[in-house]
Amino acid sequence: MGKIKMITPLVEMDGDEMTRIIWKMIKDELLLPYIDLKTEYYDLGLKHRNETDDQVTVDASNATKKYKVAVKCATITPNAARVEEYDLKQMWKSPNGTIRAMLDGTVFRTPIVVKGIEPNVKSWKKPIAIARHAYGDVYKASEMKVPGPGKAELVFTAEDGTQTRELIHVFDGPGVLQGQHNLIGSIESFAHSCFKYALDTKKDLWFSTKDTISKKYDHTFKDIFAEIYEKEYKSQFEEAGITYFYTLIDDAVARVMKSEGGFIWACKNYDGDVMSDMISSAFGSLAMMTSVLVSPHGYYEYEAAHGTVQRHYYRHLEGKETSTNSVATIFAWTGALRKRGELDNIPELSNFADALEKACIETIESGKMTKDLALITTIKNPTVLNTEQFIKAVKENIKNI
Ligand code: NAP
Ligand code: MG
Repeated sequence: MGKIKMITPLVEMDGDEMTRIIWKMIKDELLLPYIDLKTEYYDLGLKHRNETDDQVTVDASNATKKYKVAVKCATITPNAARVEEYDLKQMWKSPNGTIRAMLDGTVFRTPIVVKGIEPNVKSWKKPIAIARHAYGDVYKASEMKVPGPGKAELVFTAEDGTQTRELIHVFDGPGVLQGQHNLIGSIESFAHSCFKYALDTKKDLWFSTKDTISKKYDHTFKDIFAEIYEKEYKSQFEEAGITYFYTLIDDAVARVMKSEGGFIWACKNYDGDVMSDMISSAFGSLAMMTSVLVSPHGYYEYEAAHGTVQRHYYRHLEGKETSTNSVATIFAWTGALRKRGELDNIPELSNFADALEKACIETIESGKMTKDLALITTIKNPTVLNTEQFIKAVKENIKNI
């Protein structure tokens, strides 16, 4: 059979370390034999980011705005040790941060559920996707240590000089202070991304904040979601047979624990940070967590949730065998290909993405897996495969193409 043809290229963002090694294997073994793969390639490997003064990250984000769908390999976020290791001109910013800021998106993280890797929560049968608002609150807060007695106030000075004041507290001894903010525009973008993604994936959407305590701040989040839902999405949700449901975060936590899963849980920045770690570890493994950045303007960027798996890469460089799980990176590709297939009306491309995902799941469910999963599986006597063997085993399982 001929290879599947593409119309519009995917924006391909290559990355670092072990995931860069896996990236090439996936393309060579699982994609290029079946697809006339069209990509516009950007090398976000740290060496090339440094050579281009990080312009390549900006170019890749702009290309995503142009073509709408991108697939990204994990990349190093430089710290002091990396500046030395790669002899960097400066400590470049996190590529994910740059891309997210340029696309104005929300990140959705969803675990890949397979039989044999059982969630710690017995009732969970289907994945729970977390949508984390990625702007403001405690992450952009100003803080102060209060040395002793005194009065703390919130002061807003309008452009015309008029001031509004709100008493925070009259201190009679030392304490601490924090000022948080968020932006209506950012909350609206967050809401649109969540409603769009729910429609896209045909899943119910939950949203929770602490609006009973935070009657202005958190309540604004609740109101914005409600207004946008009523105005723009309600009829589409009804048509798709899905629901939007707001509840207090305490109630949401209790319900999540008793649920079967299968929905999207939208969270404010801090809640999303904490809850996504809880969800991913309770579902089994970071190596089985997918991630997609959805912008309210209709741009999509797919990736694995894990990093570059540095420790495995150094083993690989020493010529030692590695058993690195490639599933989340494969699902980044299938997510992007399926979306490209939908947008360009190429059903074969979307079907291929389904088949490749199925092949991954069947490989694991048949007992063939990488070491990270073998350590936690309920399957008796699993076959532990190395990085390359696992990808070859998936290839054997690709059917119906
Ligand atoms: P990591 O790459 O996610 O790896 C942490 C540990 O988790 C690994 O050492 C490994 O455990 C296990 N693991 C993660 N993914 C795995 C996989 N696919 N297969 C098997 N085991 C897996 O996180 P990190 O070591 O903290 O960060 C390494 C680099 O990645 C950093 O430079 C960081 O900046 C970057 N990073 C990038 C992104 C991104 O691009 N989105 C996200 C996070 C981190 P064992 O070693 O015990 O086997
Ligand atoms: Mg966290």
